[in-house]
Amino acid sequence: MSYGLVQFAYLIATALFVFALHWMNAPATARRGVYAGVIGMSLAVVATWAQPEIVNHLWIVIAVILGFAVGIPLSRVPLTAVPQRTALSHAFGGLAAGLVGAGKYYLWFGDGSDQLTPFRTTAIIAEVLLGFLTFTGSLMAAGKLQEVKWIPQRPVTYPMQNVANIGLLLLAAALGVGVVLQPLAAWAPVALAAIIVLALLFGVLLIIPIGGADMPTVIAILNAYAGLAAVAMGFVLDNKLLITAGALDGSSGLILAVIMCKAMNRSFTNVLFGAFGQVQQAKAGGEERIYKAESIEGAGQVLEQANLVVIVPGYGMAVAQAQHKVRELYDQLRKRGVTVKFAIHPVAGRMPGHMNVLLAEADIPYTDLVEMDEINSDMPQVDVALVVGANDVVNPAARSDKGSPIYGMPIIDADRARTVFAIKRSKNPGFAGIDNELYFSDKTWMLFGDAKSVIGELVKQLSGGSGMH
Ligand code: NDP
Repeated sequence: MSYGLVQFAYLIATALFVFALHWMNAPATARRGVYAGVIGMSLAVVATWAQPEIVNHLWIVIAVILGFAVGIPLSRVPLTAVPQRTALSHAFGGLAAGLVGAGKYYLWFGDGSDQLTPFRTTAIIAEVLLGFLTFTGSLMAAGKLQEVKWIPQRPVTYPMQNVANIGLLLLAAALGVGVVLQPLAAWAPVALAAIIVLALLFGVLLIIPIGGADMPTVIAILNAYAGLAAVAMGFVLDNKLLITAGALDGSSGLILAVIMCKAMNRSFTNVLFGAFGQVQQAKAGGEERIYKAESIEGAGQVLEQANLVVIVPGYGMAVAQAQHKVRELYDQLRKRGVTVKFAIHPVAGRMPGHMNVLLAEADIPYTDLVEMDEINSDMPQVDVALVVGANDVVNPAARSDKGSPIYGMPIIDADRARTVFAIKRSKNPGFAGIDNELYFSDKTWMLFGDAKSVIGELVKQLSGGSGMH
């Protein structure tokens, strides 16, 4: 393939990436967005491979086979494990960038080549630093989310932690400046090796003080780092596609992190340095509080009599894979003339859009999915709020209890509905590890059990009934 043709293919691939991101904005076009991304990436790989300077194809074929061998099983993880799967992808991306940067440096150093201009060496340093810290940072983040035994879930803090971390980064940066100034000095390769070790260490230390609850946000930030590493790699290799794709990756990761921080009312610096999850002391007093349980028959009758039912799905619906049963319940209620809406909290579940994806999978019309801000003003008119495996996102402590770790996080005001039914398996808390006042409220009735089987029984109850309103 000629140089011009390769550049043209890169241009098309870049356009496809931009469209892919744009189409991802709406559920109706999201699938098209995925296809555009896949086609763009395939085009990019083929165009790069077809360049005349590539003469040894064996290594590339081996890499492609290895890539498929790792990628195919990774694509099969359940939706609830997507955050840690994404973290693994960033880890690989970071490692690739770091290795390419280091490889290029040592190659050019060996040649004594004039390729190591200050600009290019700066790009190499940035690539190596960002790449390797993204690698270990993302592995740690994935481990925390997967609840790997030897990685502590709780934030680990010690005195002078931030000072030590920043000191480490400054040391790496200072070594980097040295390498940029004298890239061919005898000590420069050792300095680069030291930068690699420091970056690997920094990635681990960066994640240690951050609790599991903030991990998905951190993953979005690591996504941005991986993107920036790719941009630096683009400058090192003089590859424009890497620069544009990396920039898209970096900025979208940053935007996502900001959106998630807003949805959880957390500031960026809080996420990075806040050691969230540490302050959860058990409530004093210790008197056992009373849950009121309701039977399926009772709940079925109340639901049937309602005019407006709002279903609030959460992480538990994802765990139980209850979305198809929820769809059946939606159909049953609508048959009886009941209006059914879904209240979507931006961070319900374990990743942004988690609930939208599950409900779309069950073919629930998008028009019945209502965003948190929009539904909250209607909550006092709602006859029944049916909470399906949601906990933190309906916890009124976020509104009223200044001492709560989730204070200030916007929530769905399920407690303002006339009656609340809450489906969960046990009395255990949600992700943030705190009690939920909603479950002890006078108007709340618990339906204990797995979300899929409880909703299945409700559907059975309703379909066995007369169907008259
Ligand atoms: P939570 O994790 O707070 O609560 C989920 C509830 O579901 C639990 O109380 C659990 O109770 C119940 N549950 C689990 N499995 C089942 C099952 N099979 N059947 C029925 N119930 C089940 O989830 P939310 O969606 O309310 O909140 C999401 C949390 O995740 C928030 O704290 C949010 O900040 C955090 N988060 C979300 C991100 C995102 O992007 N979406 C990113 C970062 C953090 P039990 O064990 O008793 O069944």
